[in-house]
Amino acid sequence: MSRPTFEGIDIAGVHKYKDDVISGLYKGLQGLVASRKVTYITGEGRLSSPTSVDVNGQRITGRHVLLATGSVPKSLPGLTIDGDRVISSDHALVLDRVPKSAIVLGGGVIGVEFASAWKSFGVDITIVEALPHLVPVEDENSSKLLERAFRKRGINFSLGSRFSGVEYTADGVKVSLENGKTFEAELLLVAVGRGPVSQGLGYEEAGVAMDRGYVLVDEYMRTNVETISAVGDLVPTLQLAHVGFAEGILVAERLAGLKPVPVDYDGVPRVTYCHPEVASVGITEAKAKELYGADKVVSLKYKPRGQRQEQDPEDRGRDQARPGQGRCRRRRPHGRRPHGRAGRRSPAHLQLGGAARRGRAADPRAPDAERGPRRGPPGPGRQAAALARLSPERTTIRTTRKEQPHHGGFRNPAGARRERVRGHRHPLAQGRR
Ligand SMILES: Cc1cc2nc3c(=O)[nH]c(=O)nc-3n(C[C@H](O)[C@H](O)[C@H](O)COP(=O)(O)OP(=O)(O)OC[C@H]3O[C@@H](n4cnc5c(N)ncnc54)[C@H](O)[C@@H]3O)c2cc1C
Repeated sequence: MSRPTFEGIDIAGVHKYKDDVISGLYKGLQGLVASRKVTYITGEGRLSSPTSVDVNGQRITGRHVLLATGSVPKSLPGLTIDGDRVISSDHALVLDRVPKSAIVLGGGVIGVEFASAWKSFGVDITIVEALPHLVPVEDENSSKLLERAFRKRGINFSLGSRFSGVEYTADGVKVSLENGKTFEAELLLVAVGRGPVSQGLGYEEAGVAMDRGYVLVDEYMRTNVETISAVGDLVPTLQLAHVGFAEGILVAERLAGLKPVPVDYDGVPRVTYCHPEVASVGITEAKAKELYGADKVVSLKYKPRGQRQEQDPEDRGRDQARPGQGRCRRRRPHGRRPHGRAGRRSPAHLQLGGAARRGRAADPRAPDAERGPRRGPPGPGRQAAALARLSPERTTIRTTRKEQPHHGGFRNPAGARRERVRGHRHPLAQGRR
């Protein structure tokens, strides 16, 4: 384990820790492969026919070939990665020193992960991203929250202007952008994406259809050549380890004569391991609006502990989930305002508005008799009702927390987390709203 000292980061210790983790995982995989009686050959292979691969002067033939040659870091036209002052993520992972300063070209997943880790090591960081936001494929809200957090951490970034060139200085590099800005640092990390490894491997000769180096596959990972499948970073799907894994399982099951279902890429979770982390699953809000229309998309923001909502200034007053008003409402079983700080920061529950909870939202046009009693204006429940129209089976969303004692409130003696389910309410809360 690495030891931070007054002199700085023990980078040799960091690498030893990382290498130990990797070698443990590697040994585990070797054992797994051996236990399943898989023949494993070390060497550079080349596809020699639709059913064979040449490696180390030997031809291996099978009924089927699976291509999984992965990806390598990309660069930009005219930008040479020298491995010294201009490096890729491969070099960054084995860098034997902590630089004083670094420019990270690319604010995507890999770029922000290195920026975040290096900042923790004390490096002066500047990220350069051509698009208007960091982690641009994520929801814009996530990007804005990350940008705010990075600003607080002192991670500098320049958004919306493209890289135009790099030159060496006496002790580092100077990066220029198309908008005329320049930045200087000890090194430049190029993190502008990864491209497929497919050139010179016999894929074209075997007749495999490709696009910009990616091997094209259908939803069952079949190429246009009957005996060849492809998975992982080599194909134009999400470049994530668990995606490649799922695709590999799909092919194995298909070849074993089972009937696997295709991978649902919209359901793949994505995590960016910076600090704070960004995690998401499903399509983004922008994509949802594009697919279903803006009027069909409801956005909800809430924090389980009910502190003031993290919110962007431009959203203020629109999307904010404020306790007691708006789309999320603070529920007070005793019907009184809580006093003092603890009360303010500890709502018992956040829940979507009442209309949905009472089931009226399932069909807002239904007569009152069918919808249940109407209580006051529909304000707090309107968003929930809209959500319920989209997803009638989920009319209630609640979060629970450890209930806090406060004036006139109820106490949870065991201090345990209570799961509140629909129709179940605390006895003291019966009859109160
Ligand atoms: C810095 C970084 C951070 C990442 N973080 C995450 C993360 O947090 N979560 C996540 O899910 N994904 C992450 N990824 C992505 C993830 O690593 C890839 O999606 C995944 O490794 C792809 O698996 P693959 O098997 O398709 O390709 P690879 O892992 O690239 O494996 C391909 C293998 O094929 C070998 N090969 C290539 N050509 C030949 C040949 N001719 N003969 C023999 N062997 C050959 C290569 O040596 C390599 O071992 C990260 C990637 C990077 C670079």
